[in-house]
Amino acid sequence: MKKLFVISGSSGVGKGTVIKKFLEKNPNFKLSVSCTTRAKREGEEHGVNYYFLSREDFMKSVENGEFLEWAEFSGNCYGTNKKFVQQCLDNNEDILLEIDTQGALQVKKKMNNSVLIFIMPPSLDELERRLRGRGTETEEAIQKRLNTVKSEMENAKCFDYKVVNDEVDRAVEEIEKIIRNEQV
Ligand code: 5GP
Repeated sequence: MKKLFVISGSSGVGKGTVIKKFLEKNPNFKLSVSCTTRAKREGEEHGVNYYFLSREDFMKSVENGEFLEWAEFSGNCYGTNKKFVQQCLDNNEDILLEIDTQGALQVKKKMNNSVLIFIMPPSLDELERRLRGRGTETEEAIQKRLNTVKSEMENAKCFDYKVVNDEVDRAVEEIEKIIRNEQV
């Protein structure tokens, strides 16, 4: 049975960079485009980065059972399109979900072919240093993010694999190895 790979990681851990690199090296993998109620950031496109929905439309999709999983993260809703995932699996295509830990645990419960990978910072101190290094957040916002990190680490205990992002190329290689081993 085709495996469904799910990657999660705290903000500030460099997950975006790792996934981008992975997809460059493995163009056969499709990244699922999620729906979200959060505002579009500069440079983002509807249908490419996310499907940007109003909260009302998002909730309609929830009621219609269109999401494989969905969760609220930092005041916005995010959900994975069930039909897209099923189509990829049916067509024997390689698929990757990049979602938060709450969503990942929902996927684990529903799909017994799922493989959960959590990207870890080298240490919590390092993550705090990276978050502070951005210099854009207030002390309150930093504390909020660090508290989220703690609950994410707690959820990560249920993940199948943990990969430390000490160095991007090395982390990508470790993920490739995990995937190769799972696909045999
Ligand atoms: P951002 O707003 O920075 O793009 O994403 C915030 C968080 O939402 C990230 O941790 C990201 O992995 C997560 N996320 C993105 N799409 C989904 C989704 O479809 N479901 C869930 N549960 N989380 C998602």
